[in-house]
Amino acid sequence: MSRILTTIGFDADDTLWHNERFFRVTQDRFAELLMDHTPDHIGPDALDRKLLDAEKRNLGAYGYGVKGFTLSMIETAIEVTEGRVPASVIQELLEAGQMMLSFPIELLPHARAAVEAVASEYTVVLITKGDLLDQERKLAQSGLGDLFDAVEVVSEKTPQVYLDIFNRHGAGAERSLMAGNSMRSDVVPVVEAGGHGVYVPHGMIWEVEHAEPPQHSPRYHEIDDLSGLAELVERIG
Ligand SMILES: [Mg+2]
Repeated sequence: MSRILTTIGFDADDTLWHNERFFRVTQDRFAELLMDHTPDHIGPDALDRKLLDAEKRNLGAYGYGVKGFTLSMIETAIEVTEGRVPASVIQELLEAGQMMLSFPIELLPHARAAVEAVASEYTVVLITKGDLLDQERKLAQSGLGDLFDAVEVVSEKTPQVYLDIFNRHGAGAERSLMAGNSMRSDVVPVVEAGGHGVYVPHGMIWEVEHAEPPQHSPRYHEIDDLSGLAELVERIG
């Protein structure tokens, strides 16, 4: 009997390994560094908000990832201090960003087992946004590289992007499944493209990645963690 599914896509950050927590740590450092240079009416929450605004503003130009985040921190620092932020603080922000580009990869529970479980019978593709070099570094350090048939580092995860990827690495979106921690990037556009979207919550998520789950769709699935993936794939496939 032939299977329905041919291709399984995995998101990388906060699906296979920790990522968002390094952004949180760096953002705390950002707030700490700017505390003495920011006017009193800009409290910690307002500072977070201004940084998020800058990130959103810059996504279209910088794309996702650490480099864009670092530039947005610097931009926000200049903005909230009205140009008075000392160069020493800018230097520390650059260093904080560089540290993010070398943080150690720590796999999430069941990540390796989940990819291994489907790797022999399906075409397995890593689909991720972010800085190309950094995503390649993290994949190499994760030790999971050999399990994937293909790696796609994309600038945005849209239905069209998924259609293209699933056509190239399989038999179209209808016969593909994507698992990830972002409802907005890993699940909704895949379901929209005609594929199966599997939401794997991580608990810590960047505000930009929120979206309403496509509850109405029979191609929408949710599992507590990656230990449930192989069984779900078997059930659909
Ligand atoms: Mg992710």
